[in-house]
Amino acid sequence: MAQRAGRRFSERVCTQSTLSSSTMDGNIGIGLLGAGTVGGTLVQKLVGESEAISAKTGLTFDVRRIGVRDIDKPRAFDVPADVITSDLFAVVNDPTVDLVVEVMGGLEPAGDLILAALEAGKPVISANKELIAVRGPELIAAAERSGVPFLFEAAVGGGIPIIRPLSETLAGEQIDRVIGIVNGTTNFILTQMAEQGTAYADALEEAKELGYAEPDPTADVSGADAAAKAAILASLAFGTWVGVSDVYFEGIETITSVDMAFAADFGYVIKLICICETVGDGVNARVHPAMVPAEHPLASIRGATNAVFIEGPSIESLLFAGPGAGGAPTATAVLGDVIDAARETLAGAQVAPRIRFSPGEIVPFENIDTEWYVRLSVDDQPGVLAKIASGFGDVGVSIRSVWQEGVDSQAELIVVTHAASEAAQRAALTTLEQIPEVLEVAAVIRVLGDES
Ligand code: NAP
Repeated sequence: MAQRAGRRFSERVCTQSTLSSSTMDGNIGIGLLGAGTVGGTLVQKLVGESEAISAKTGLTFDVRRIGVRDIDKPRAFDVPADVITSDLFAVVNDPTVDLVVEVMGGLEPAGDLILAALEAGKPVISANKELIAVRGPELIAAAERSGVPFLFEAAVGGGIPIIRPLSETLAGEQIDRVIGIVNGTTNFILTQMAEQGTAYADALEEAKELGYAEPDPTADVSGADAAAKAAILASLAFGTWVGVSDVYFEGIETITSVDMAFAADFGYVIKLICICETVGDGVNARVHPAMVPAEHPLASIRGATNAVFIEGPSIESLLFAGPGAGGAPTATAVLGDVIDAARETLAGAQVAPRIRFSPGEIVPFENIDTEWYVRLSVDDQPGVLAKIASGFGDVGVSIRSVWQEGVDSQAELIVVTHAASEAAQRAALTTLEQIPEVLEVAAVIRVLGDES
């Protein structure tokens, strides 16, 4: 089945035992790579909601093979022994599998499994942002060669429809900027810090207890997860491939309650944001914590919620917001892709690619204009402020405002700069670190500036 583009699913005679109540010919055979949080929920949906799905779409699905690491692990659904396997290529190569869903995660073997499925002419659905941000063009090209869909709505924003709007609905818009909160774990932590005064470490523990953070939260808190999503968003928005290695990223590990409090005093909320934008003839994508003005819509995105703004000359500003992760929302996005891919394949046409990438310049972060909040611990001697001011001024960074806290000899000085290139801001920082009265550069956080 599905050995060539456009072949109808219903031509195949089903011989395999299935999870679906129906084993009749005409069902679409799904091969699932991974049955954890997302895959397990998808199976439950496909089985438990099969009648509703069929009534709405006219399609019926059978989960024919499931590939996992440990076939003996207890699952939240019944799974016949001849359906589950630890041989993942057996899932892809099974002739009764019409369509492959990759929800196992990681670069390998997921990448080679997807490639094998696409080369065999099978549509593939994936939720794997990490893989797509690295091997996206190769996998999209393989799908194009085979004329089958390769869809990944769930890879960014979990349950929020964002990939399809960017690559299809807005294909005719010259998108200027995509800006958003695309990691729920860090947004939950920052919300707890801002609203409850919780210390970073305690907020992280709470996120783990509530299931928002993995036991190893590094990918989330370091910004790496958001960087992979930023790479995908930028690539689809601008039609220039932006790989994850092109995305500058910083995490939230160094954000403290002190800066949260200062941010609130100054009318800001600290968020981990991704910014993807056109810069001259090129594009830039980056992820870092930012002071977001309290009146900006992103400032009100609380807890594990994700939100993405898409800006362009015709659409002005579109906001997409909702649950960015979790089994049910993510499996719903995957299921939408499954239905879409099944419809396209049943329509019998060679599937056109949904995105083509053109060569383009990736503008380095150092060339991007940013505004900085810098908190310094200083020995409050006469003339220290002048030295700090010239540290910025000598490299072309002008100061917007200065606050001083503390009346003793040791003071906290907070400087907010006007926009200047990231390179100039960093040069100023190097100078500040060499001023004897500057005891410590306690924090550097970028400010989402007037361009917002
Ligand atoms: P998960 O709960 O860890 O499940 C992963 C599944 O894949 C498990 O069934 C595991 O087998 C299987 N697996 C992993 N590596 C394997 C290997 N090398 N060989 C065989 N089987 C392997 O992960 P998840 O949370 O469902 O996430 C799946 C994908 O969806 C990831 O790409 C993730 O980034 C993406 N995603 C997840 C969410 C979310 O909210 N969870 C949201 C958006 C996107 P065992 O069950 O035997 O361990």
